[in-house]
Amino acid sequence: SVTGRKISEEHDKVFVTGCLEPDTSKPRANAAFVVLARNKELDGVIQSIKSIERHFNRWYHYPYVFLNDGEFNQTFKDTVRNYTSASVEFGKVGPDMWGYPDWIDHKVAKEGIAKQGDAAVMYGGLESYHAMCRFYSGFFYKHPLLAKYEWYWRLEPEIKYFCDITYDPFLKMIESNKTYGFTIAVKELRETVPNIFRYASAYKRLNNITSQGLWEMFVEPKETPARPEDDPNFKPPLPEEILRAEPGRGLPEIDPEAMDGENYNMCHFWSNFEIAKLSWFRSKEYEDFFEMMDRSGGFWMERWGDAPIHSLAAGVLLAPRDIHYFRDFGYRHTTIQHCPSNAPARQLPREPYLELTTADEKARGEEDEYWEQWDEEKENGVGCRCR
Ligand code: GDP
Ligand code: MN
Repeated sequence: SVTGRKISEEHDKVFVTGCLEPDTSKPRANAAFVVLARNKELDGVIQSIKSIERHFNRWYHYPYVFLNDGEFNQTFKDTVRNYTSASVEFGKVGPDMWGYPDWIDHKVAKEGIAKQGDAAVMYGGLESYHAMCRFYSGFFYKHPLLAKYEWYWRLEPEIKYFCDITYDPFLKMIESNKTYGFTIAVKELRETVPNIFRYASAYKRLNNITSQGLWEMFVEPKETPARPEDDPNFKPPLPEEILRAEPGRGLPEIDPEAMDGENYNMCHFWSNFEIAKLSWFRSKEYEDFFEMMDRSGGFWMERWGDAPIHSLAAGVLLAPRDIHYFRDFGYRHTTIQHCPSNAPARQLPREPYLELTTADEKARGEEDEYWEQWDEEKENGVGCRCR
């Protein structure tokens, strides 16, 4: 979309171009890596640590915080400590941050989850996955082990960084007054979030929030009419229906027109990578947003991911200038990857922001091609400190 191009060119530039010797002369930011994991994911966790240590943290030594709804075993802890010289803390996520809140009808929620399982919604039938998404949406930043930190960098098992990161992204974020950083934006599976946009949109409307320009990134481009009020079928929005949501009884039907005539385009920042300012999550506005989303029951009756939650919250509360696209980070998780250009002479074949906001199946294929092409250039010495 045109908005994408505008966001990219006007509001956000890559922090560093070209090769640098890692600059470790400045004091570290008040920041940590945050990893939620289970004991059985140890191998994937080690892969991730090896990668981030090799490409970044062997110079910068940021601490790690590992969280788990169960207890980490001794093997997990000892092995993790073997792969980094940075400080590592292990914490437990208590029932206050994990699982069903007491106001929800457990039976209804369980049935809702079973239904999503039957409908083959991705992870929809997995109670623990719902709990994980809700934890990353509204709780991780309140965990006691994170209380002392102002910034976080999310790590997951089985991720890979391709390129050396030779500057401190936290310091750059602070310097340029950024709040939220991403490296990949993709489309969400529609069936996991059928009603998410109605609630986000209702939050925006109920709080009289006007877009600062980021909201449009998440809105399906409208054909005609340009303004909803020009639509002969336009009905005035009915936000009261949302307030009447009965927690745990399923999501109430909301008139689609309660969305200001807008629809979700399913775009979201892929949150398994995130560098963000914790004070934003801890702000009253974000808390209110989470509270309203949570009270709808959508974390259970649907399978709302933390990625669309963070993204829509950003759309409501932040401006394009608050967002940083780490287009220079080479990053891969499972089947999706982003390959950067951090060589000064290199021209991207397409507008990167556009490419990534529409990373549907086709775009993914194209990105693979792009990556191969980049690999070749690297062989020829164009790439910069990537391997
Ligand atoms: P995907 O990336 O969406 O396929 O989901 P993952 O299975 O990778 O889960 C996302 C993150 O949450 C990863 O860091 C997992 O280790 C973590 N995670 C998922 N489910 C659980 C769980 O039940 N307990 C714990 N402790 N971590 C979990
Ligand atoms: Mn994952």
